[in-house]
Amino acid sequence: MTGDGTRAVRAGLPEAAAYEPPVPGPVLAAHFHLPGDPAVAPYGYGREGNPTWTALEAAVAELESPDQPAHAAVFPSGIAATTAVLFALLRPGDVAVLPSDGYQLLPRVRARLEAFGVGVRTAPTGGDAQLAALSDDVRLLWIETPSNPGLDVCDIRRLADAAHARGALVAVDNTLATPLGQRPLDLGADLSVASGTKAFNGHGDVLLGYVATRDARLHAEIRDWRTTTGAILGPMEAWLAHRGLATLHLRAERQQANALAVAAALRERPEVSGLRYPGLPGDPAHEVAARQMRRFGCVVSFALPDRERADRFLGALRLVDDATSFGGVRSTAERRGRWGGDAVPEGFIRMSLGVEDAADLVADIRRALDAAAPDASGTSTVR
Ligand SMILES: *Cc1c(COP(=O)(O)O)cnc(C)c1O
Repeated sequence: MTGDGTRAVRAGLPEAAAYEPPVPGPVLAAHFHLPGDPAVAPYGYGREGNPTWTALEAAVAELESPDQPAHAAVFPSGIAATTAVLFALLRPGDVAVLPSDGYQLLPRVRARLEAFGVGVRTAPTGGDAQLAALSDDVRLLWIETPSNPGLDVCDIRRLADAAHARGALVAVDNTLATPLGQRPLDLGADLSVASGTKAFNGHGDVLLGYVATRDARLHAEIRDWRTTTGAILGPMEAWLAHRGLATLHLRAERQQANALAVAAALRERPEVSGLRYPGLPGDPAHEVAARQMRRFGCVVSFALPDRERADRFLGALRLVDDATSFGGVRSTAERRGRWGGDAVPEGFIRMSLGVEDAADLVADIRRALDAAAPDASGTSTVR
C-alpha cells in the first residue's frame, strides 16, 4: 500500500547497495561478456535485452499494476508499441476493432493491418458504437481513452467485460492518462499500451513506447516481436525516461491543476466552442472519466471560430509554444487541422498544459484570445 508519489520515485530501482548509485546509469553495450550457454544468460546481445530497459520495464509494470505482478516491454516509440501489439497478436483472418477518432496514425496502421489480412472495423470512442462493433469473430478491441485529440472517454470495464465474453482481447492506449491517471489492467484490460513520448516522459526529449500486461504469454509474444523486428529503444533514452519518472507524480498533479484552471477560463470566453476536458464538471465525458480515472491529464481541446483566428491566437501566445505532441513540462498548443488527419474543425486547438504557474498561463491565454479577436487591430490592442 504505497501512494503514487512514493511509488513513482522508487519504481523499478534496485535495492540499495553500498557504493552503488540509487539510479543506475545507462548501460551502453551492443554485446555482453557471454561465456557458455546463451539460453541461461540474462544479457548477451543488445537487441534481445539490456539492463537499462529491464529497470524501466520494472518501473512501468509497477506503475501500471501496483497490486498484481505484471510485465512490460519498452519500445522506441508509441507507434512501435502499438504495432507490436497489433501485428504480434493478430493473424490473417482475425478481426480487430479500432477507434475511428483515435491517434492520427491509426488509419495508416489500419491499411497495413488489412494488407496483412486482418479485418478491421472502426467505432467512435464516445457512445455505444464500440460495444455494438463487438461480435464473436473479433479477436482484439483497441480503445483509446481519453481519445486524442477529441478527449472522448469510454468505459473500460464495461467494454472489457463485453469483449471478454466474446473471447476478444482488450488493449487500451493509455498515453493521455498515464498510469497515474488510470490503470487499464485494473479495469479489466489485457494490455495497457502507451506512447511514453508524451506525459510519461514529460520532458519532450525522448521518444518511447511500452506495452504492459499481466499475461506472461502475451508478454512473450510482444517481446519476440520486438526482437524479430529490431524495434528497440536506446539505453540512453530508457535511462532518461526512468530518471524523469521521479517527478511523474508532481508533474501529473500540477498539469492536471493547470489544465483545469485553463479549461475553466476558456469556458467563460464567447469565442470558444466545443471545449473538452474530462476533468471539468459538466464535460460530456466527466461522469465516466471520474469513475475510472484518478487524474484527468494535461490536454484541453477547443475550437476558435476559424483557422485565421486560431493561427492569430497561437501566434500571440508567449508561454505556450506552437508545437505538436503533448504532456511536456512546457505548455504547447497547435491547430490540429494543419495535419489533415483528424476529423476536426479548422479552428480546433489541442492545448497541453505544462507545469508553469496557472495564473500566468491563464493570463497569457486571455491576452492572446483578446489579441486574436477580429476587432483587435494594430499593435495598440496587443498588450
Ligand atoms: C503520440 C501518440 C501515439 C504514438 O506515439 P509516438 O511515441 O509518437 O510514436 C499513440 N497514441 C497516442 C494516443 C498518442 O498521442
